[in-house]
Amino acid sequence: MNISNESNLYKDKIVYDITKFSHLDYPDHLACIIWFSGCNMLCDFCYNKEIVFAKNADYDLNDVLEFLKQRVGLLDGVVLSGGEATNYDLAELCREIKKLGFKIKLDTNGTNFQELQLLCDSNLIDYIALDYKAPSYKYKQITKSSKYDAFSMSLQYLISSHIDFEVRTTLHPDLLQEDDINHIIKDLKNRGYSHTYYIQEFLYTGTHIGDIHMPVNTFDTSLLVDDIKIVYR
Ligand code: SF4
Repeated sequence: MNISNESNLYKDKIVYDITKFSHLDYPDHLACIIWFSGCNMLCDFCYNKEIVFAKNADYDLNDVLEFLKQRVGLLDGVVLSGGEATNYDLAELCREIKKLGFKIKLDTNGTNFQELQLLCDSNLIDYIALDYKAPSYKYKQITKSSKYDAFSMSLQYLISSHIDFEVRTTLHPDLLQEDDINHIIKDLKNRGYSHTYYIQEFLYTGTHIGDIHMPVNTFDTSLLVDDIKIVYR
């Protein structure tokens, strides 16, 4: 069944690409990844520059559903990523995905609070990876956006919800130092975050949004406070 919504969302090609198979991106699941084009931030270290600035995408949401129908029984889950997937109204798509029997993971920067809340309150998302880009005092510098408050609302909402989720930070030691990560850890602790905090190593691809190079600084993990469980990726 095709989605027949009259909005442009379902007519426009808003999906940049589909990764057909991944066992790394959705914990304990075999999943595909739906890469939504465009983003509401411009993080210096972003390596999805082509997706963020995409003028043309290859797939609309009906294409996505047709692909997923061929994967019933072969995959467990669907990762909605980007770009920023919550720039779009995802509820109807998520309902259709769930009808096919897939679990849904959302990768998000958390800055579209109302969309995130609607999806979660409607029980349409099974797992969320929430990016904590930077502490509040560096958020604008690193993301080129003034959306920390919206991100903060999403974080607080998820902590007080039943949703299974993780918080993660991409670490470029020239952008974030030990004090910055400690600030994030203490903030998470103070808010009552009880899940694992993932620190992801920056990968240099040469295609970043900002004028980013291989890190010059080193990062001493022994200087981090141990207020919460940390896993390095
Ligand atoms: S890293 Fe930043 S700019 Fe890139 S897709 Fe994620 S939120 Fe958008």
